[in-house]
Amino acid sequence: MTNAFKYLFIILFSINCSNEKKSNEINLYSQRHYTIDKIQYENFEKLTGIKINVIKANADELIERLKNEGENSPADLFITVDAGKLYKASKMNLLQKINSQKINNNIASDLRDPNEFWIPITYRARIIVYSKDRVTKKELSTYEDLANEKWKGRILVRSSSNAYNQALMSSIVANNGIESATEWSLSLVKNFARDPKGNDRDQVKAIAAGQGDLAIVNSYYIGVLLSSDNPEELNAGNSIKVYFPNQEENERGSHINISGIGLAKYSPNKENALKLIEYLTGEKAQKLYTNTNHEYPINPLVQPSNIVKKWGDFKRDSLDLNLLGKYRKDAILIFDKTGWK
Ligand code: FE
Repeated sequence: MTNAFKYLFIILFSINCSNEKKSNEINLYSQRHYTIDKIQYENFEKLTGIKINVIKANADELIERLKNEGENSPADLFITVDAGKLYKASKMNLLQKINSQKINNNIASDLRDPNEFWIPITYRARIIVYSKDRVTKKELSTYEDLANEKWKGRILVRSSSNAYNQALMSSIVANNGIESATEWSLSLVKNFARDPKGNDRDQVKAIAAGQGDLAIVNSYYIGVLLSSDNPEELNAGNSIKVYFPNQEENERGSHINISGIGLAKYSPNKENALKLIEYLTGEKAQKLYTNTNHEYPINPLVQPSNIVKKWGDFKRDSLDLNLLGKYRKDAILIFDKTGWK
């Protein structure tokens, strides 16, 4: 072999090796913050031998990172707890469309992205929970009714910097318009039991402690509290009941959001990435999400956890979830304008 051939051989051989090494991993940029995720990824690694590297940060930080890395980004997948952030990433041209029949077959058709830029892995409702002792179900009806002055000093909710609240407000803007959403927010803030602080679970604990009577929270946190070993959390979960707003025939249904995945535009391990999406939307992983974290399954073959099932079925707002991103700026302006801290 001449020297030139030898070098060519070495170069080709090393390119091949690096490709093989690449194809045995997936780089995940994730906003999710739950223990269950680690177990899901370990199960997938055992099954396929594909290693998953996770980088956790908040969604905006991850979007910024994807943008700065550009074509050289090692990221394959972007996971969020908010369709709005996936919409944002798609609008910034950071994602590529996913068109897999196998994956689509795993997902209820009304939960799919009409633009094909993201795949839901779970969904959650942002619901009202109320004190068993101080509120009756008859007094509750809609998100809009939380502006009623009968709730003065009684409502608990976390800060407006949180994506769950921003998505809820975006849905109010999408459904009712900016003006009506602004008025709603202004009256709702007057009904707050205290300045917003803490996470969703802290609002439930505050009801248990008598600091307020109603809270706006994500559904799965109630399942998490009710299955907790910690007496304080269990007590908080048992002090409230769950209410799905806007359920009457002429109403739109309760606000939901998805936790979902986008495929990075320059994904170096695309085939593996699609395999992981297929796995996470499949029955085994869906059962784990629902039974451990009490999120709702996006796979119609899987039932919610026993705790969640007891709350019964509910009608979900059928809004295109991309609007939760489209109206995000308006939502944030409304929070600022109306003093929702
Ligand atoms: Fe959460």
